[in-house]
Amino acid sequence: MAVVSLVKCGSYERKELAGAIEQSLENMGFCKERFAGARVAVKPNLLTVAEDESAVITHPEFFRAVVSIIKSCGGIPVLVESPAVHSLQRVIKKTGYAEVVREEKIEVADPSQVRTLYYENAQRFKYMDISSAYFDVDMIVALPKFKTHGITYITGAVKLLFGAVPGLEKSKMHLRLPGHTDFADFLLDFYGAMTFGFNPPKPILYVMDAIVALEGEGPGQSGRPKQMSTVAASMDGVALDWAAARVAGLDIDKAPTIVNGFARGVGVACAEDTEVVGEPLENLQIRDFVPAAGESLFSRSDRWPLNTETFKNLFVERPVPQPEVCTLCYECRKICPAGAIGAAIPGKNTPEYDYGICIRCYCCLEICPEGAIEKKKSRLHAFWAYLASCFTRPSRRASR
Ligand code: SF4
Ligand code: SF4
Repeated sequence: MAVVSLVKCGSYERKELAGAIEQSLENMGFCKERFAGARVAVKPNLLTVAEDESAVITHPEFFRAVVSIIKSCGGIPVLVESPAVHSLQRVIKKTGYAEVVREEKIEVADPSQVRTLYYENAQRFKYMDISSAYFDVDMIVALPKFKTHGITYITGAVKLLFGAVPGLEKSKMHLRLPGHTDFADFLLDFYGAMTFGFNPPKPILYVMDAIVALEGEGPGQSGRPKQMSTVAASMDGVALDWAAARVAGLDIDKAPTIVNGFARGVGVACAEDTEVVGEPLENLQIRDFVPAAGESLFSRSDRWPLNTETFKNLFVERPVPQPEVCTLCYECRKICPAGAIGAAIPGKNTPEYDYGICIRCYCCLEICPEGAIEKKKSRLHAFWAYLASCFTRPSRRASR
């Protein structure tokens, strides 16, 4: 049985936030004395340089509230993160984290040091390179931001741990696992490795920032902030993601890391094994949360002929930069694992995309600092989406 605490919290005002996080730990029965004398890796979502209020990153005041609790109990918090393109120092400097790290005197781990973690029950890769800082701590406190995601539908606790992979190595995993289902399975491998791979296993406490979440075309600047007024916490990331997705009123069956996470047993076995404590879920539920645009069946496969240029161009949404918004910063080009993005041709104000080799991982869309990239559907794709919706049946077990 997993326990998920839900607490209502409407803002990042320090006193209210500290009270909500303290209440979350109490609801879960988490003994704060566990922090005493412990070195604690604190892992927020610092995807990229973004405004604190953009909802792209875990809010710095949320991070402050958690490290303050750890310190007050005699623990030593260490900020551990490896952003996708920029250096960690740059992301800290350009966000509210600079002030918090300085004022709270927080140690920042060097993300360039890497060690290999082994997980026997992984389905894709058993060996995973992660930041070595995780090996040097007694426990991990993960601070996911609740956001929509173009491939995994949502990003929360399970996907946050993937941030332990250093920098651009993350986007290269899309090249090795271009099928969306395969990628979601790998995320669960990774979650399993972080949960069971250390010897002895390290406890992981998840405290989710769902106060202002991200809806629409998340998880980057193309999404929109959405008031959700929730702090969610658990020792089980799959159960936590399930509860947060329920609060957002999303279709659980579209979230492969939740559905397959339950099925594979990397967390609890199913939704029925999750006990929600604190604020009743129904009291927090919102009705107008906008998910990321749907995908076609073909976007889930990396097998011939569904992975051919013709099929992709006919049926799978393509990332298209908008000339009126693009600043030609080329962040998209740096992150593209397929090398599908070239320099702008003279007279054009956007990078040149080669859709023949683009694997539709949408890392470019995720990282674009201007939110300049849109997913564009072909007419056939729209027709296919209609047909697919006619044959899709929701599973009652996961949705409960
Ligand atoms: S599309 Fe976005 S990331 Fe790419 S060059 Fe333009 S502004 Fe930069
Ligand atoms: S162009 Fe964008 S969606 Fe296509 S492979 Fe590169 S990063 Fe992924």
